[in-house]
Amino acid sequence: MNSVFVYCEIEDGHVAEVSQELLTKGRSLADELNCKLEAIAIGHQLDEIGKQIIPYGVDTLYIADDKRLSPYQTLPHTSIVVNLFKEEQPQIALMGASSVGRDLGPRVSSALHSGLTADCTSLVIGDHFDKKQDKNYENLLYQIRPAFGGNIIATIINPDCRPQMATVREGVMKKEIRDPKYKGKEVKLDVAKYVSDTDFVVEIIERHVEKSKLNIKGAPIVVAGGYGMGSKENFNLLYELADVLGGEVGASRAAVDAGYTAHERQIGQTGVTVRPKLYIACGISGQIQHRAGMEESAQIIAINTDPEAPINAIADYVINGDVAEVIPKMIKYYKKNTK
Ligand code: FAD
Repeated sequence: MNSVFVYCEIEDGHVAEVSQELLTKGRSLADELNCKLEAIAIGHQLDEIGKQIIPYGVDTLYIADDKRLSPYQTLPHTSIVVNLFKEEQPQIALMGASSVGRDLGPRVSSALHSGLTADCTSLVIGDHFDKKQDKNYENLLYQIRPAFGGNIIATIINPDCRPQMATVREGVMKKEIRDPKYKGKEVKLDVAKYVSDTDFVVEIIERHVEKSKLNIKGAPIVVAGGYGMGSKENFNLLYELADVLGGEVGASRAAVDAGYTAHERQIGQTGVTVRPKLYIACGISGQIQHRAGMEESAQIIAINTDPEAPINAIADYVINGDVAEVIPKMIKYYKKNTK
């Protein structure tokens, strides 16, 4: 059986989190399909990169190492991936739904006429019976993602073309090393064979990377506020609670749209995905687009005046009350009890 393949994004010598998550998912899909997990790292000075990638259970890691390949550039990275896929014929190819994956994925799928499902939130192996053709397709990749503004969850399959390609959002899947001593092989690609001079028509003169200090994804506790917080000033209560608990502040889109806080704190389908140990939803109704970004949290507390709010259905604890009364009490008692 042909392999499951993961494109690994490299930034400053490190494999991106989303790629680590995809390697973990790719390994479990490969186990189910009884095939190899393969990966590619493209960049410069990648001598040590295998140590970061192979432990995820990668059987073959292809490395394209050339000064001109870092930082990421559309044309050379596309050429390498397309030509390698033509040789290796993977059955499944996965990339992050990051700015790199969103740029690279469509180009690769278009060159290979394979199709691509963007922004998947789940990937599962399954069969499909095509009534028209009276034909059963086995072991297809179910590419699952919210559609129509999150109102339905669509399962997309690609029975005829290969690879079955999908991009997956960061933070949706767990990352887990398979074995620190996993025995995978490294294959160094002869870059000149995979690219042509015309792939390097773009020259990067200067690069500025805006790095946010905010780390909602890595926070063990997220205190998130919604439109029910009522104002930007009331959001200060959330910063205070997050501070005493050692967490970060997140928000719903309605709160961001209302100007209560910055977009970088938005959680959900069009924001970040989090899976903290504790998620405290304050004045958030819990629409499907919000839940898409937080429902994997280990424990959820909902504070809401509406006992019927949808968030309550997925919460472990519901506090039926006004945020303006409940949150100050939480801050007060938490401070008191931890002294
Ligand atoms: P509301 O739905 O207005 O809920 C406010 C809640 O606060 C209510 O439950 C109310 O009972 C409660 N409340 C009011 N006053 C108080 C009080 N004093 N004390 C306690 N509780 C109180 N949303 C996201 O969050 N993230 C996304 O990424 C996202 N992406 C989207 C993408 C698309 C394509 C679309 C169409 C929508 C998206 N949305 C997203 C919007 C989403 O559908 C909801 O509109 C949004 O999540 C609602 O935010 P909210 O729960 O804060 O506001």
